Amino acid sequence: MKKHNFYAGPSILSEYTIKNTADAVLNFAGTGLSLLEVSHRGKEFVAVNDEARALVKELLDVPETHEVIFLGGGASLQFYMIPFNLMKKKASYLDTGTWASNAIKEAKFVGEVDVVASSADKNYTYIPKNYTIAPDSEYFHITTNNTIYGTELHKIPEVNIPLVADMSSDIFSFPVDFSKYNAVYAGAQKNLAPAGVTIIIVRKDALGHVDRPLPTMLDYRTHIKKDSMFNTPPVLPIFSALQTLKWYKEQGGIKVLQKKNQEKAAVLYDEIDRNKLFRGTVAVEDRSLMNVCFVMNDEYKELEDKFADFAKAAGMIGIKGHRSVGGFRASLYNAMPIESVKALVQTMQEFEKKH
Ligand SMILES: *Cc1c(COP(=O)(O)O)cnc(C)c1O
Repeated sequence: MKKHNFYAGPSILSEYTIKNTADAVLNFAGTGLSLLEVSHRGKEFVAVNDEARALVKELLDVPETHEVIFLGGGASLQFYMIPFNLMKKKASYLDTGTWASNAIKEAKFVGEVDVVASSADKNYTYIPKNYTIAPDSEYFHITTNNTIYGTELHKIPEVNIPLVADMSSDIFSFPVDFSKYNAVYAGAQKNLAPAGVTIIIVRKDALGHVDRPLPTMLDYRTHIKKDSMFNTPPVLPIFSALQTLKWYKEQGGIKVLQKKNQEKAAVLYDEIDRNKLFRGTVAVEDRSLMNVCFVMNDEYKELEDKFADFAKAAGMIGIKGHRSVGGFRASLYNAMPIESVKALVQTMQEFEKKH
């Protein structure tokens, strides 16, 4: 039976990515050796690294002012590296979920953090919209998609200081105006590659302004200067990332992916709104296109485990909700075909008929 992969992360990758990665693990670029056992300084891998960085720039329209680097340590290391490199004294943060609050926690090790608003009061089921930013704040940190709670910033806030964004779970799903950002970062395992690499896109002239000493590995300038090869990079995730980026380009680029994501999410949200057994968990205008969270309606709560089993038997994998929300979460990242979303909807309809 076909399995439909709704995992939140690590998560679905295109067949193209998986097949080409498997091939390179056996024989990389005609070398007769595995990708896993060759020097990262060999010309074959240097070409992969360079092409992947160039394709990130091309697909996201990254201007000359910014540089793209690939690092280890996950998005979670960036929670600290970002303020360490970019915050002199003070920065503002929007608290929209677990990851945003983790970013806030780390920034507090570095300087003064102004939390402009939080939706923690309602279990992060909406995006706060009215707030003011401290005038002496140096950047405003946002989390564009809240993977756990299923909310997304459909309108990027208009503020008069530079933005910094954690785009771990929605990068490459919408166009980004980099003139507004000092930095964007994203762990790969939601929308790009296997776990192990993080993309950082940073504005070069925003660096070098802090007084604190920066240890070599924690200084973005080290990695920019060495073309993202200061130390041994995570070669396999970078190779896979390149495959996904090529696939994105072949699909028609970011705007095409965005349109497909809107269509996929609409199919599922329409069913959640129509089907009496289910309801969505977040404010309608803030619903995420990437992570669709839903629960059983109160009068059908006792059917929750039954639906989980029923869906699993129908090949729906990874739809159990995060422990802080409960219910269900279907993640519809770029690589998810609309056919899988329709299969989930059909499963929900069959379950409705039975009960
Ligand atoms: C998954 C996720 C993270 C954490 O990423 P790691 O690579 O595990 O550190 C951070 N932010 C967001 C929005 C995420 O979805």
